[in-house]
Amino acid sequence: MAYRIECHLCRSDTWAGNIVDLLDWHTDPRGRLVCEKCGATDTSIHTITGLWERESEAAWNGYIKGALRLPADSPTYVPYVFLTAEAPMGAVSRVRVSYYLNPGVTGRLTDGPGPGSAPALTREDLFQLIERLGAFGIIQPDDLERAAHRMREDSFATSLARS
Ligand SMILES: [Zn+2]
Repeated sequence: MAYRIECHLCRSDTWAGNIVDLLDWHTDPRGRLVCEKCGATDTSIHTITGLWERESEAAWNGYIKGALRLPADSPTYVPYVFLTAEAPMGAVSRVRVSYYLNPGVTGRLTDGPGPGSAPALTREDLFQLIERLGAFGIIQPDDLERAAHRMREDSFATSLARS
């Protein structure tokens, strides 16, 4: 699948031929989509998915604002996420997890859930994702401190002791 990156600053469109091209050549170190013409990150990819579903509400009509590759412990299986917004210049509100099979090993690029079903993230993948979301400004250190506090307050061990 090819991706059309629209730049909202210089009004140029650039194309990534597939997910590997997009991740390797059209994102900055923080994962933001970059305009090939002017280097701006005021960019988005309009995406409509799920149109084959009978229920129209199953379709997602949104905008990819960034793409992050997660550390893969397998040479063939590469999980990644799209950071998406509801509007072209909107704030990132969702993280869409997917994966591709490395064409360098399999001989052809397979993108998205295939025979292996939905993506499965390791503990390391999850922590790396949280750190990358922090670098993107989607998660703040305070959010993690609040989550850690709730985990300490409502730990499984505490609930066992109460029962
Ligand atoms: Zn541009």
